[in-house]
Amino acid sequence: MKWDSHAIVMSQRIFFSERKTLEIDFRLSALRSLQRALTEHEQELVQALYEDLGKPVTESYMTEIGMVKSEITYALSHLRRWSRKKRVPTPMTQFPARSYTVAEPYGVVLIISPWNYPLSLTLGPLVGAIAAGNCAVIKPSEFAPHVCAVLQEMLQCFPSGYITVVEGEKDETQALLQERFDYIFFTGSVSVGKYIMEQAAKHLTPVTLELGGKSPCIVERSADLSLSAKRIVFGKFLNAGQTCIAPDYVLVQEEVREEFLHWLKHWTEQMLTKDALSLPDYPKIVNQRHFDRLMGLLEGEEVYLGGRGNRETMQIAPTILTNVSPDAPVMQEEIFGPILPVLSFAAIEEAERFVKKREKPLALYLFTRSRKIQKRIERNVPFGGGCINDTIVHFATHYMPFGGVGQSGMGAYHGKASFDTFSHRKSILQKALWADLAVRYRPYTEKKEAMMRRIMK
Ligand code: NAD
Repeated sequence: MKWDSHAIVMSQRIFFSERKTLEIDFRLSALRSLQRALTEHEQELVQALYEDLGKPVTESYMTEIGMVKSEITYALSHLRRWSRKKRVPTPMTQFPARSYTVAEPYGVVLIISPWNYPLSLTLGPLVGAIAAGNCAVIKPSEFAPHVCAVLQEMLQCFPSGYITVVEGEKDETQALLQERFDYIFFTGSVSVGKYIMEQAAKHLTPVTLELGGKSPCIVERSADLSLSAKRIVFGKFLNAGQTCIAPDYVLVQEEVREEFLHWLKHWTEQMLTKDALSLPDYPKIVNQRHFDRLMGLLEGEEVYLGGRGNRETMQIAPTILTNVSPDAPVMQEEIFGPILPVLSFAAIEEAERFVKKREKPLALYLFTRSRKIQKRIERNVPFGGGCINDTIVHFATHYMPFGGVGQSGMGAYHGKASFDTFSHRKSILQKALWADLAVRYRPYTEKKEAMMRRIMK
């Protein structure tokens, strides 16, 4: 193996023990270096994203480069505040004392990322790790090799004891997992997520798992059907459906189904023409295995739009399926491609039951004008996060934590949540020396107990 995992972790431990990363100025300067490296390598990154996934320049900026830049800018302007000692109240029973919490870095963290947004899902967590004062080993996905090579080059701006990129496949990741890390941040599939957690458990290493699943769209009869369809088309066919929070399937209310389908077709053709496969910048499916899996999901289904694939270019046309059975293969697994099954429901209770019977999704998108239905779904259906009358854009804000729940993951990041994820908060109670109340000390008396009972209730 090209990498000596043990040596990498040891050199990071030494770097961390030098305590440079505890300085806020050091972290700010590291974030600025990352910002500079990103700008300097922007053209190479755009090219690499095109070669790995066929991403158009605008999408590469909107969902990858721009996302990371704005995370860095936000962290730069808030880091001093986030890292301040925080005073908290002290209960009467502890009088006289004051209490506060202090954020400290975990130490050496491991970031494992997937191929679908190979830049933002690698550097996004890294921003949090740096801001919180950690050293980081980064393991990007082998299925985005061009981006991985640029990452390797651009992160040379840091000493390897501080930030290291380990290229490789399953074996390299498994070798890394034999080492003891202080935190593991994993983005990827549910099955690999379980394996990561199992390995982390051996060292009791805490983890964040950003996983996947089937994220539903519910289109209720009061919705603005054209705008709903437009926003679903945007979220679904971005990166050819290879987005963890892409709408996986649509549940539309029966009475508006035909009109909604009309708008879905209309907006797909508006945004991607009638022949997306002829567009030079229509993204491709990451590899032949996934291409074949996706084409297999179309077998026996009623195709309303699209349905064609080109195995040479590994592109699949934006595809809409109707009259899909809940038991169909396409409804069993996360689709992760440009295929959108549309199912219908009679009453909102039915849609709610449908979603609740399945694993808690990473995202849920509700399209409605009814406040009552909005409240009802928010209250009754568990999901990681989502939007009302839009898709996927809840990911693109650093003001809210992003993460899953249940099988779609645990933990969250973005903005301050990233800083918190990569920090341990030490709680400290500082006792005053000028008084020492006798109530807690032996010998216990009735009077002491009575006083305790008055205060502690
Ligand atoms: P994956 O789980 O196959 O791979 C993720 C990472 O784990 C890669 O770096 C890979 O090299 C490594 N890996 C793969 N198999 C491994 C093994 N057996 N042992 C150790 N390491 C292994 O995921 P993927 O195919 O790269 O990405 C697609 C999945 O990621 C989808 O399920 C998607 O929903 C999910 N995802 C989630 C988010 C999120 O933010 N929640 C974002 C993007 C993707």
